[in-house]
Amino acid sequence: MKRSRRQFLKVASLSVAGLGAQLAAGGMTKAAAAVKPSYKEDALALKAKRWAMVIDTREFTSKEDFDACINACNTAHNIPHIPGKTEIKWIWKDAYEHTFTDTTNKYQSKEIEDREYFMLCNHCENPPCVRVCPTQATYKLESGIVAMDYHRCIGCRFCMAGCPFGARSFNFTDPRPYIKEVNPKFPTRMIGVVEKCNFCVERLDAGKLPACVEAAQGKIHFGDLSDPESEVRKLLEENFTLRRKPSLGTEPGVFYII
Ligand code: SF4
Ligand code: SF4
Repeated sequence: MKRSRRQFLKVASLSVAGLGAQLAAGGMTKAAAAVKPSYKEDALALKAKRWAMVIDTREFTSKEDFDACINACNTAHNIPHIPGKTEIKWIWKDAYEHTFTDTTNKYQSKEIEDREYFMLCNHCENPPCVRVCPTQATYKLESGIVAMDYHRCIGCRFCMAGCPFGARSFNFTDPRPYIKEVNPKFPTRMIGVVEKCNFCVERLDAGKLPACVEAAQGKIHFGDLSDPESEVRKLLEENFTLRRKPSLGTEPGVFYII
């Protein structure tokens, strides 16, 4: 879609104003997020009105359990291995107190606090990252997935400031020399571009579940949150789950069975 310069500047100024308002409020309002037409699908495409993920944290008991998912994601998406602070992360693990910053107390079960938890983009229903992007390089699909168009990203990093979950990484250097083996089916990125988990939209459109879900062998579930008969809805009914930072009102699409 072509936009005039005037339209572009209007979007940019609204986005900056939106970011300021959100930061000032310490949270976010429920203004409409930009919605673009769905990724181009083929006949096999898996469809949902609202994709969601349910991670059974009780089942992740070893380093290998986590590594299998992280490696599957990294391989599928040409994620470079850049050691140090400029690391690119789509899915990673962290401690309880970093994952659930507002859901802890001194009487918490030690076993739960000692577990590690996956972190990734939450594909929020009300994604602040979408509202603050001045070029609409990040946008929400009709399926609820928060996607990115790397070619539109100008590297301003407003989306990184807007995301309260630290789910986005910035390419401070050219990532391509750090990719072990390039997957020709997925684009590589370049210096100056932001990236994050895309809920494997390219795999869903080819009829496959996300790479981490496949590698987790039953420890991560994926399905349609809007369908009361879906597996994810049944799991949410039957188990106690947490989401990250619920008080912010972003409505994360990633749930953790505790
Ligand atoms: S987790 Fe962050 S990057 Fe992902 S949709 Fe929510 S605000 Fe955006
Ligand atoms: S859903 Fe896909 S992109 Fe997101 S963490 Fe899992 S494998 Fe990576």
